[in-house]
Amino acid sequence: MPDYSAKFDSLDTNLVHAGRPRPHVEGAVVTPIFQSANYQMGDEATYDAVRYIRLSNSPNHHTLQARLATVESAEAALLTASGMAAISTAILSNLQAGEHILAQRTLYGGSQSFLDQDAHRLGITHSSIDVADPDGAKAWERVLTSKTRMIYVESISNPLMEVGDLEAVVSFARQHDLVSVIDNTFATPVNFRPAEMGFDLVVHSATKYLNGHSDLVAGAVLGSKRAVDRVRHLLLHLGGSLDPNTCFLLERGLKTLSLRVRRQNETASRLAEFLEGHPSVRKANYPGLPSSPGHRYARQYFSGFGGMLSFYLEDAAAAERFLDRVALPIHAASLGGVESLVVRPARSSHLGLEQEERDRLGITDELIRVSVGIEDPDELMADFEQALSG
Ligand code: PLP
Repeated sequence: MPDYSAKFDSLDTNLVHAGRPRPHVEGAVVTPIFQSANYQMGDEATYDAVRYIRLSNSPNHHTLQARLATVESAEAALLTASGMAAISTAILSNLQAGEHILAQRTLYGGSQSFLDQDAHRLGITHSSIDVADPDGAKAWERVLTSKTRMIYVESISNPLMEVGDLEAVVSFARQHDLVSVIDNTFATPVNFRPAEMGFDLVVHSATKYLNGHSDLVAGAVLGSKRAVDRVRHLLLHLGGSLDPNTCFLLERGLKTLSLRVRRQNETASRLAEFLEGHPSVRKANYPGLPSSPGHRYARQYFSGFGGMLSFYLEDAAAAERFLDRVALPIHAASLGGVESLVVRPARSSHLGLEQEERDRLGITDELIRVSVGIEDPDELMADFEQALSG
C-alpha cells in the first residue's frame, strides 16, 4: 500500500501535493484513475478495510481525502457523491427520530428543503436561528430543547451572504453538547478553515469552488477521525460515494483553488462596491462591504470575502431585463466555477421553498445572485454597467 500522509507547510503547496501517493504509482506525476470496483483481498480485519469503491477507499479516494483534510486543517475527510450527500449523511448519522436541530435562518435551498421535508418526515425537527443576532446565545437558548443535538450553519449563507458570529456558534455548541456543522462551500478553505475554530464537522459541495470547473458533482465531509467515521458508516449504507473518475477530475480542479479564489475575492469585492453605488441597485449583499451586517465577523474570521454576491433591483421586471441584457456571465444555476454566472435564486436554488417563505426570508424575485469567475475584471464590470443602464 502506498503512503498517503505527505504534507507540506503551506496551503498552496498542499493543494498541489498533500496526500500524493508515496511512492508515485509507476512514477506517474498525477494520480492515475483506478477504474476498478474491487481489489484482491489482503489481511483486512474489518468491513471498512475491504477495498471496494462504495467504501471510498481506492487510491483516488485516499489521495484526495488526505489532501482535503490537510487543506481544511481537519484530521479526516470523506468524499461523497454530491454536496447534498455530504449534508444529508452528516445530519442523519448524528440524529435520531424525536431529536432536534438549530439551523441558520437562511440556507442553501436544498439543505432547507431537506430539513423541512425529508428530515421532518423521519421525525427530526428543526428551529431557525439568526446567527448574526448580537444577542445570539440568549436568543438561541430560547429555542433549545432537551432533544436538541446539532447546530447547523453556513460560513457565508446562500443566497443572502450572511455571516454569523461563528465563534459564538462553536462555544454555544460546546456548552450545550451539540454537534456543530458548517457548510463551508462559499468561503472555501482558502478564505476560512472552520475546523481551526472548533467546528465538529465541515461539509462542502465540491461541485463548486473545490473543483472550480462546473463539470462534476461531488461533496466532502471533514472533521475529527471519530466524527468522520460516524458519517462514513452511514454513507456505506446509503451508498452516496464518489466514483474514481470524478475523484480524478476533482483532484485536478483542486490544485488551482487558491489561484482561482484569490482572483475571485478581488473581482467580487470590486463588483460589490460598484453595485452598491449604482442607482439601479436597491441593495447589495457581500460580506466584504462595510454595510453588510456580517462584515465585522467576516473581517475577523476570513482572509478573503469570497466570490459570491447578490443584489436587489427595483422589481422582478428589472431583474428580468438585467438577465436579458447581461452578455458575459451565463444565466445558470450553480456556482464556484471559472466562468461568471448570474441567476435569480427564487427561480433556481430556492425554487423548492414556498413563495411565502422566500418572501419572508428576502429571497424575492428581484434578487440576483452572482458567482464571479476569473475573467478580466474590467470587462466583467463594463458588462454589468451596460446591463444595468439599459
Ligand atoms: N451547499 C451549498 C452552499 C450549495 O450552494 C449547494 C448547491 O448549490 C449545495 C450545498 C449542494 O451541493 P450539490 O449540488 O453538490 O449537491
